[in-house]
Amino acid sequence: MTLVLRARDVHKTYRTDPPVPVLTGVDLELRAGERVAVVGRSGSGKSTFLNIVGLLDTPTSGQVELLGQDTGALSAHARDRLRAGTLGFVFQEHHVLGHRTVAENLEIAASISGTPRARRPALVSAALARVGLTGRQQALGRLLSGGEKQRLVLADEPTGSLDPQNAENVLALFDEQAAAGVAVLVITHDDRIAAWADRTVRLRAGRLEKGVRW
Ligand code: ADP
Ligand code: MG
Repeated sequence: MTLVLRARDVHKTYRTDPPVPVLTGVDLELRAGERVAVVGRSGSGKSTFLNIVGLLDTPTSGQVELLGQDTGALSAHARDRLRAGTLGFVFQEHHVLGHRTVAENLEIAASISGTPRARRPALVSAALARVGLTGRQQALGRLLSGGEKQRLVLADEPTGSLDPQNAENVLALFDEQAAAGVAVLVITHDDRIAAWADRTVRLRAGRLEKGVRW
C-alpha cells in the first residue's frame, strides 16, 4: 500500500530556557488504510509529534515525508496546500477547535478557495461557531468528510472525554476512513483504542518504541 507518512529521525527541542528536548529521534511509517495508535505518558511528546506530522509545527531536525514529498523542502505555501488538501485533524475537546492552528487552517482553506483576505476572519469565526454548536459526532463527521483527497487523519486523544458508546462511534468513523484507504494516526491513553488499532507505538524518552502489537 502507498506510504502516506514517513517520519525519519525527527528531533524537537523547544527553545525555552532551558531548552527542552522532547523528541530525540522518532521514526514512523504509515501506509494507506493503516490505523496506528500512539501511547505514552503525559508530557512524553505525543502532541508535539502529531503537530509536526500535521505540518502545524516544524522539527528541529529530521524529515517528515507525506505522500513521498519531503515537507521540509516545500515552500510555506506548498506546505499549507498539502496540509489543507490531504490532512484531517480531530482534537479531544470542542473548544480546541477554537485553537489558533485550527482557525489558521480554516483561514488557509478560505484563502485557497479564493475568499478575499478581508472576508476571511468572519468566515473563520462563523465556521468555528457552527462546529461549536454541533454535537461532537457531527463536528467529527464534518472534519472527516472534509475532502475526498484526505489521506491522513491525525487525532489527538479523540475519545478522551467520551462515554463508551460515543467512543465506539468515533472508532467506527475511523474504520470507515481506513477502509477507504485513509491512514489514521491516533494519540490515546485509552486501552480500547490501543486494542482497536492495527499497530501501537509508545513514545518514551523522546523515541517511538514498538508497542504491544506491531
Ligand atoms: P503529550 O502530548 O505527550 O502530553 P506534549 O507534546 O504536549 O506531550 O509535551 C511534551 C513536552 O514538551 C512537555 O514537557 C511540554 O511541557 C513541552 N511543550 C509542549 N509544547 C511546548 C511549547 N510550545 N513550548 C515549550 N514547551 C512545550
Ligand atoms: Mg498531548
